[in-house]
Amino acid sequence: MKDNYRHQGKRQLLVKTVEKKGIKDQKVLDAISRIPRHWFMDSSFEDHAYQDKAFPIAADQTISQPYTVAFQTELLELKKGEQVLEIGTGSGYQTAVLCELGAKVYTIERQRELYKKTKAFLNKIGYRPKYLSFGDGYKGLPEYAPFDKIIVTAGAPEVPKDLLGQLKVGGRMVIPVGIDVQIMTLFIRTSPKHFDKREFGNFRFVPLLENKN
Ligand code: SAH
Repeated sequence: MKDNYRHQGKRQLLVKTVEKKGIKDQKVLDAISRIPRHWFMDSSFEDHAYQDKAFPIAADQTISQPYTVAFQTELLELKKGEQVLEIGTGSGYQTAVLCELGAKVYTIERQRELYKKTKAFLNKIGYRPKYLSFGDGYKGLPEYAPFDKIIVTAGAPEVPKDLLGQLKVGGRMVIPVGIDVQIMTLFIRTSPKHFDKREFGNFRFVPLLENKN
């Protein structure tokens, strides 16, 4: 797989675009500048890879818009070595961003086809999440909980209680909540029983669906 000067040049422009839209975290911007997003798409769609847009991948799903990936990642306030749970592996692009930031990544995908494809692909390009799971993200991964951070990359009609329960005290969960349009929502667990909730505007995601497929 190639990553030539043309790709790298386009990627720097993408980073500038994302920065202009308000992303300040330099580590997040650096991660975007290092990851060849065109590798995560079918080669015939390579020209779309460095536009700040979501794009269709396999199984009727999408690779999230770079700005959205950056926005959610910035809200996580990730530190190296933290244990992060991602719901919705999809293309693996967000997973790669989390790996670039030095997180120990656990990720769940409910579509078998995508799970298999992305697992092999991430391994091939050298990203090593701790664990890729084929399963239903509504349930989280109780056997690896608690997590420092949780990121949900599909639109949740409601906030899954199991996920809140798998967050460490002091931990942060970023989740788009809503049916047609989602409100980006941040939960900070301030004590075993209390969560601070903050909202950050509207986004659009494919839906978080129950059960695996
Ligand atoms: N993070 C991905 C975004 C993919 S779109 C990327 O960067 O490409 C959202 C993904 O969530 C889809 O692949 C979809 O199949 C998956 N998904 C939806 N509901 C899910 C659930 N309950 N558990 C796990 N994955 C789910």
